[in-house]
Amino acid sequence: MAGRQYGTEELQLIATLRDRGLSISEVARELGRTPAGIQGALRARRWVDPARSKLMSSVNVFSTEQRNAFREFVRSRAANHSSTDIRDLWNKDAATKQWPMVNNERVLYYLCAQGLKKTKSEYMRFESYRKRQSSAQQERRAKEQASILRTLRVRREELYAREANLPRRNCEVCRETWPLTDEFFRRSGVGRKYFLKTCKNCCHKVSGTAVERRAQRMVAYDRHVIVKQLSLAKTERDAFLRQHRNSPVRRCSRCHETWELTLKRFPKYKLPSGRELHRRTCRFCLRTDARFKERAKLELERMQTGIPDTNACRVSEQGDQAPFSVRQCNLLKETSAMSHLDEC
Ligand SMILES: [Zn+2]
Ligand SMILES: [Zn+2]
Repeated sequence: MAGRQYGTEELQLIATLRDRGLSISEVARELGRTPAGIQGALRARRWVDPARSKLMSSVNVFSTEQRNAFREFVRSRAANHSSTDIRDLWNKDAATKQWPMVNNERVLYYLCAQGLKKTKSEYMRFESYRKRQSSAQQERRAKEQASILRTLRVRREELYAREANLPRRNCEVCRETWPLTDEFFRRSGVGRKYFLKTCKNCCHKVSGTAVERRAQRMVAYDRHVIVKQLSLAKTERDAFLRQHRNSPVRRCSRCHETWELTLKRFPKYKLPSGRELHRRTCRFCLRTDARFKERAKLELERMQTGIPDTNACRVSEQGDQAPFSVRQCNLLKETSAMSHLDEC
């Protein structure tokens, strides 16, 4: 519902005009609004008269019994299922009972309404989420791999056409025979004399376990923090201090970097006397601490639950950003209220 908000007086006027039997377009003309806007406002407040609205018949409306059943269905599964799991489970049953099917939004709406909405990081720990992620990832990798292989094969034909006696080697992993050259095989050993038994294309498949790859990703993230965030902050600081020469600064007790003595750089804490002081450690160091703690916690959980490789490290990397925020949840509530006329 874009455009101006509807005030109480305006809403009362709409209600009155509708009671008098005016059509939506007549009400719209009366208020200087668009008919779509009026319709949206009515729907958001469940003021739609089913007998009049064509739209109503196309929406799967719950009966009271169904609504209660659905609410209970969502509630009882919220702890161990993602919203899409719940949607699929409900729809499987609904088809046989001839009850209305639901979409993911409606499930999310009910989760929100009951305060059961999961955060993104909680959601990411669900088995089904991980399965979907990993199968999508495998598919992506397989496609990439296929395209690399096609290119390599073309190249191989070119080389063989040019030099028929070129030495060849069968790769231990892909079992393809490739020209035994630096283009296709890495070397190892003293003086880099010997070609490996695995072609270059397969080398990365055998190198690195899931744990090692996870560690690499974390290192990459930490590097990103240092390169991007810190250098940006330093530029900001220098510009700020050029403009405010006498502004107080503080040297962080941890990284020993000097920063502006502002809330942005040093959070405050309260003394028992009620006085507030800036912390001695800068926000960057505090955030790094928090990130490491979170990672350690996840590592522990992973060990306890025996979860193999997951994308959970991304949770720790984005931990303080809370990708699926309360705000979004509320936003969803608003949009859901419009798309599901039977709820509120
Ligand atoms: Zn290979
Ligand atoms: Zn610091």
